[in-house]
Amino acid sequence: MFRSVVCVSGCLLALTACGASEGSVNSSAPEVLADVTIESSLSSKVEAGCTEIHSGDEVEGAFSFAVNLHESLPEEWTAEFMKIMRDMACMAPISKNILDISEVPRMMNVYAWLDSVSNPFPDKEGVSGTCICGDGSDMWMALEMGEEGFRPENLHIHRYQVIVHEYFHVHQISRSGNQPEPIWLTEGGAQAVENLYSQDRYGESAFEDALFPITANWVDDPSPLEQYEYTEADRNYQFSTFMTLALAKEVQARMGISEVEALRLVLVDFLDAKFVTRDWKDAFVETFEMTVEDFYDTLSEFPISESTEAWYSGRVVDAQSVMPSEDIRLEEIFS
Ligand SMILES: [Zn+2]
Repeated sequence: MFRSVVCVSGCLLALTACGASEGSVNSSAPEVLADVTIESSLSSKVEAGCTEIHSGDEVEGAFSFAVNLHESLPEEWTAEFMKIMRDMACMAPISKNILDISEVPRMMNVYAWLDSVSNPFPDKEGVSGTCICGDGSDMWMALEMGEEGFRPENLHIHRYQVIVHEYFHVHQISRSGNQPEPIWLTEGGAQAVENLYSQDRYGESAFEDALFPITANWVDDPSPLEQYEYTEADRNYQFSTFMTLALAKEVQARMGISEVEALRLVLVDFLDAKFVTRDWKDAFVETFEMTVEDFYDTLSEFPISESTEAWYSGRVVDAQSVMPSEDIRLEEIFS
């Protein structure tokens, strides 16, 4: 497991995040800062509606990502990074509303490197972890990839999922007007999206194990997970992700809509509602036609049992019934 930092909205809290190992082995990791190198076939080309990703200058009148990829990273990862970023940038473009958020720059730098080298970006001291982080005047995406996670015995799809996760946080910021509460839905939403993506594109996700282990601590009162101060205890945001998927299933049943429509309400439409209705609890009622408390009450109905896995002890929630279908496509949710 890997500790990383996941922040949105300029927070700088160190939080346990996002799961398994992320890094790679590169025993001869060079110390020299590489120029950003992007294969020409992967370089940015502006498509209708796609957020631009480049390695150069600010794009006039538009939000863009400027990527800074350190040469310590394996080429296979940097190639996949560009593919995933461009995929997300066209499927779920960053809303132009982000240009009106004062703490977000028009050009957001993405810093990615392997943690076998210390921060190789001299212009950006203090960048660390895996996060959308800010210092009040700037906001950036940091992907400090753990080298351990790139060892053959540790290779895990998380090394790609984390790219989707952090990209989606920027999408959330842009659509909601940088309103992250409730945190369980911001982090659970990002976890749901990264797993929907990897399930569809790579045939692997945490849904296969029904997010095991979902610690049963919050079934009676999940309200502490509305704030970042308490989510550190929610290891890898598993309970938050369970809540997010449980909300989609509840909404699907109550409103008589399809699974895709329910996921769209939870992952996308709620962000737009928060942009308009600044109180997230009011936006929740408007979007889901039930109160937050009504939803929280449904969580105690899920089966709870002692873990039967040797490596984990404690009471866990069985969330098998809320796992998304295997054929769900993110394109449909964002369309
Ligand atoms: Zn996150």
